[in-house]
Amino acid sequence: MLLPVDTPMLEFKYEHEWSGRMVVEARRTVRIPLEVPAERIDDLHATSHWYRYCQNRTATYCWPTRPTRPSDLTTNTREVERTLYDRLREETAGLHSNLVQKAIKDAVAAVSSCQTHWKNGDRISKPSFDARTDGSYAMTYDKRAATFQKYTVSLATVNGRVQCRYRLPTELAGTPYERYVLDRRWSFSTSKLVYDGEQFWLHAVLKRTYTDASTSSTPRSDTPEDLTRVLGVDVNVDGYTAVTSVGGFHGNADALTHRRQAYETLRAELQQTGTQSAHRRLQARRGVERRYYTQYCHDVANEIVADAVRVGATHVVFEDLTRIRDHISNRPKSQQWLFRQIQTYTAYKLAEHRIDVERVDPRETSIACSRTDCECSDDESRAGKEFRCVDCGYAVNADYNAAKNIGLRFLEASESIPTGHTCSSGRATSQLALMSGTLTPAGEFVSREWVSTDKPTASAVGR
Ligand SMILES: [Zn+2]
Repeated sequence: MLLPVDTPMLEFKYEHEWSGRMVVEARRTVRIPLEVPAERIDDLHATSHWYRYCQNRTATYCWPTRPTRPSDLTTNTREVERTLYDRLREETAGLHSNLVQKAIKDAVAAVSSCQTHWKNGDRISKPSFDARTDGSYAMTYDKRAATFQKYTVSLATVNGRVQCRYRLPTELAGTPYERYVLDRRWSFSTSKLVYDGEQFWLHAVLKRTYTDASTSSTPRSDTPEDLTRVLGVDVNVDGYTAVTSVGGFHGNADALTHRRQAYETLRAELQQTGTQSAHRRLQARRGVERRYYTQYCHDVANEIVADAVRVGATHVVFEDLTRIRDHISNRPKSQQWLFRQIQTYTAYKLAEHRIDVERVDPRETSIACSRTDCECSDDESRAGKEFRCVDCGYAVNADYNAAKNIGLRFLEASESIPTGHTCSSGRATSQLALMSGTLTPAGEFVSREWVSTDKPTASAVGR
């Protein structure tokens, strides 16, 4: 049986080079089923035993017996490594040094995530990495603990290396495997080995770097006090989960829907089975799903934050979910939850950068033309993910159009509200951050805009 190679998730990371040029790093995760030689499966299981041992030792170290406030938790990876690494190397004799490091890192990240939840007022408990009832586990392999190749991967175990072939479909054309693994422009980076209880998968992370000298940005520290620079964000249930007014396309809502449906099917089956073991399996799976969605929301929030920091935004604007009566309250609870989590995590992460989060009434933001010299708002302008203004002919990706409208709506609203803080130089400057450049509500400066509908990778570098 051939298992499909999954739809890759889309991620972008923005960094500045010393020269001031913008470096955009794109990452894709491609899920590849592995053929593990039958006689070596136990070596991987044994490795995961010691990997979890390191994770649990780390969690115990980071988590005092009775923590009373978030800062009681230890979340500094370097400090934990300094204390635990040598000991764990001795205790786990045979576990690759880089697996020890990754296990420490995983556990510290889990504790750090708990700390975030705690600060947000959520109930938390010490992360546990004990064996799961369904036998599933995941280990992080970097390029020292694994050798990633085009058709095989060699993985370090407690009993030497194991070489695994990728289980590929006969027809490779058009698969993510062909587009990323076989394309020389993409290279492997730290990935995950995942065992789901039945099958081994490589969650291969492929990386590619773009450099664009023309993309300039203004760090927050350079932003004048009286400047309001807004990043608009549109959230969706299909296509990309979040689209920003600077052309950031984040998350993969379709893959998420697909995963949800698979889970619902399994749940229906297990509930019908009705046995105790089916019940236990369902409980375990529910936990896996919840963690997956939480992580997904964190990832999308991180990408939105990266966009905001990159363009020196002062405000990030979302749709006000409570006001989308005809829009969101009819939707499944899971989607409402997802949208709320993304907003909550983004707000929390932005606070560190002193960037505010605002919400606006989303009515008509998806059908109104986002050109500031056009008043048109018409259902006819939008067809799926394509927006073409029936009045002026402006054509862009529909979610991008909505993201711009969301940002503009906030600027329009704030124009009429007297600003509380100092603005001695006179009238405040308001801008909407766009793909490359900024736009004032009056429309004096129109930047080069992104017009493609399905090439977010290229757009991310301002082309
Ligand atoms: Zn128009």
